[in-house]
Amino acid sequence: MLCSLLFLTILFLACINLSWNFFIPITCKAQTNEKAVALSFDDGPAAWTNQILDTLKQYNVPATFFCIGKNISGNEQTLIRINAEGHLIGNHSYSHHFWFDMLSSQKMLADMQLMSKEAVAITGLEPLLFRPPYGVMNPNLARAIKKGQFMPISWSIRSFDTTIKDKQKLLSRIITKVKPGDIILLHDSMEITATILPELIQQLMSKGYKIGRLDKMLNINAYA
Ligand SMILES: [Zn+2]
Repeated sequence: MLCSLLFLTILFLACINLSWNFFIPITCKAQTNEKAVALSFDDGPAAWTNQILDTLKQYNVPATFFCIGKNISGNEQTLIRINAEGHLIGNHSYSHHFWFDMLSSQKMLADMQLMSKEAVAITGLEPLLFRPPYGVMNPNLARAIKKGQFMPISWSIRSFDTTIKDKQKLLSRIITKVKPGDIILLHDSMEITATILPELIQQLMSKGYKIGRLDKMLNINAYA
C-alpha cells in the first residue's frame, strides 16, 4: 500500500516535472557555458503577438512561438510575420484543450497534426518542435510525440507571466534566475509580457547574455 502510494506520488511528480525525463527525453535547456538564452512564447497567435514582434524587431532578437492551431484562423498574417521576421513556429497542439492530458495517444497525435496542417497551409512549414499544453507529460503524450516524430521542448525558466501582476516582480523572477543555455517560458497572450519585454531584453543584454534562436542553440531542425 505504502509502496503503491509512493509510486503514484513519483508518477505524479514525473508528470509535472518534465525535466525528469521520466517518459521521453525532453529538452528544457541548451548545454552550453556561453552566456546565451532563448525566448519562447506560448499560446498565440494572440492579442499581444504583434506588439511582441515589434519589440523583437527593434532589438533584433529571435524567439520561438509555440502556437495553438485553433488560434491561427483570423491571425494568418501574424503567423506569416513570425516566420518572415526570422522567428520559429512551434507546435503547442491544435485545441490546447483543458482535458488534453486525458486524451488517448491517437487523439493527441491527431490534434497535434491538425496544428501542423494549419501551419503548412499558411507558411509551408511543418513544425517539429512541440511544447505540451500546460507543460504536462504523460505516457500517452510520450507515445504521440514519438509516433509524430516531434521534438518535445519545455523550459528551464518559468516566468509565471500568466499569474504575476507586478512588472518588477516578473522581471526580477527571470533576471535573478538566468543561467547560460536557459529557455525562458513566456506567453504572447499576456499584456504584461508585451509590456516588460523591452526591459527584459535590455536587462539580459546588460548582464552579458546573447539571445539566440532555439534551433541554433540546440543544433536541431525546427521544421520537417
Ligand atoms: Zn499553453
